[in-house]
Formats: sequence, C-alpha cells, structure tokens
Amino acid sequence: MEFLDEKLEAYIEKNTSPESKILQELNRETWAKVLIPRMLSGHLQGRVLSMLSHMIRPKRVLEIGTYTGYSALCFAEGLAEGGMVHTIDINEELEPMIRKFIDDSPYASNIQLHIGNALDIIPSLNEKWDLIFIDADKENYSNYYRLLIETLKPNSYVIADNVLWSGKVIDPFEKQDEETAALVAYSKMVSDDERVENVLFPIRDGLQIARVL
Ligand code: SAH
Ligand code: CA
Repeated sequence: MEFLDEKLEAYIEKNTSPESKILQELNRETWAKVLIPRMLSGHLQGRVLSMLSHMIRPKRVLEIGTYTGYSALCFAEGLAEGGMVHTIDINEELEPMIRKFIDDSPYASNIQLHIGNALDIIPSLNEKWDLIFIDADKENYSNYYRLLIETLKPNSYVIADNVLWSGKVIDPFEKQDEETAALVAYSKMVSDDERVENVLFPIRDGLQIARVL
C-alpha cells in the first residue's frame, strides 16, 4: 500500500497536524490487538477525512465499514452543530472496542454504531446524507453507490477509499481478482455518472470523491 518513499511519507506526516490523543491510542491498540490493522485510516488519511469534514460541515454522515472506529471519529470532528455520524460494520467482535473508544471521545453523542450487513441496514436508515464514506467490502462498492445516489441532494459527497488497491487496479483485466475488478468497475461507474463530478485523489490507497451536481 506504500506508494511514496518512506522519508517523504515521514516529511508529509511531520508537516500535517498530529493525531489527537484518543486517535493515537486507538491506532496503537488496533495495531496491538486487532486483525489486519493496516485497514485503519491512520494519521495522514485521518487528518484528510477530518479536514474534508470541516470543509463540508455535514449534518449527517454515513460510514460503511467502521472497523475500530478511527475514521468515524475523524468525520465526527467536522460535524455541523447537532450532526451525527452513522457507521455500519458487519463484524460484531469489533463492537466492544468501537464503543469503548466512542464513549471515551468527545463525540459519544454524535456517533451511532450499527452492527450488521450494510446492504440490510442502509435501507432502514431514513436520513438525508451530506457525506457518505464507502470503506467496506470492495465487491459491494457499486451496490452501495447505486443504493444511495438517487437519494442524495446536490452538493452531497460520496467518498470511496482504497480505489487504487495498492496499484492492482492497473493490472491487466485477466490478472485482476474479484476485489480489484470491483474497484475498477466502481471508479469507472462514478467517472461515467453524469449526476456527479469526481476526482480520484492519490492519497494513501486512493480516495475517490464524488460531488452530487
Ligand atoms: N473505515 C475504517 C476501516 C474499515 S475496514 C477506517 O478507515 O479506519 C473495512 C470494514 O468493513 C471491516 O471492519 C469489515 O468488517 C467491514 N465490512 C465488510 N463487509 C461489510 C458489510 N457487508 N457490511 C458492513 N461492514 C462490512
Ligand atoms: Ca479503507
């Protein structure tokens, strides 16, 4: 997943605001105790998500793929007054850790956790989303987008993570596994969608940001 030279990466992090104490702790505990810790957004991407949230000032954020709660806490930092992050994860084993960190954060009343399959939970949430972060099973990125896009107002945003998939998205089609092919299809679908304008930002593993027109 590392595209940049290690020293350049360190320089970038040095010139980016540090993680809060609680995010630092969550980062550390995830690496110590949870499987596949590199899924956590981490310092640089976390600050990017927080910055985007501050720029958009959303009232309602939908996050698909909570993992240990790192990115949900980053989005919560930029919420509008009375705002709420709804975050969904299918892995119930993560629930105690997610809840512990949300409860210890300043955003305990601004984050609502839903445990279950996002494809089942999304239709049950009756909200007008200002910002959606797609970061769960790659095979369903396009399904999440299709499920939600019609409901979005102008100037709402859909951000999808890992759209570069460690660079595998430019492998020849025959060499692509299912996840890679799904991410390639997602990025193409969004780029071809005339209802949005979009930019693929080469941040970390790739963030594709679409704005509803
Ligand atoms: N957003 C987190 C990382 C998410 S990792 C961060 O940036 O720190 C991806 C998560 O998606 C995993 O925790 C996994 O359990 C969850 N996931 C996978 N398939 C899912 C599904 N169908 N519904 C909800 N969550 C799912
Ligand atoms: Ca991710």
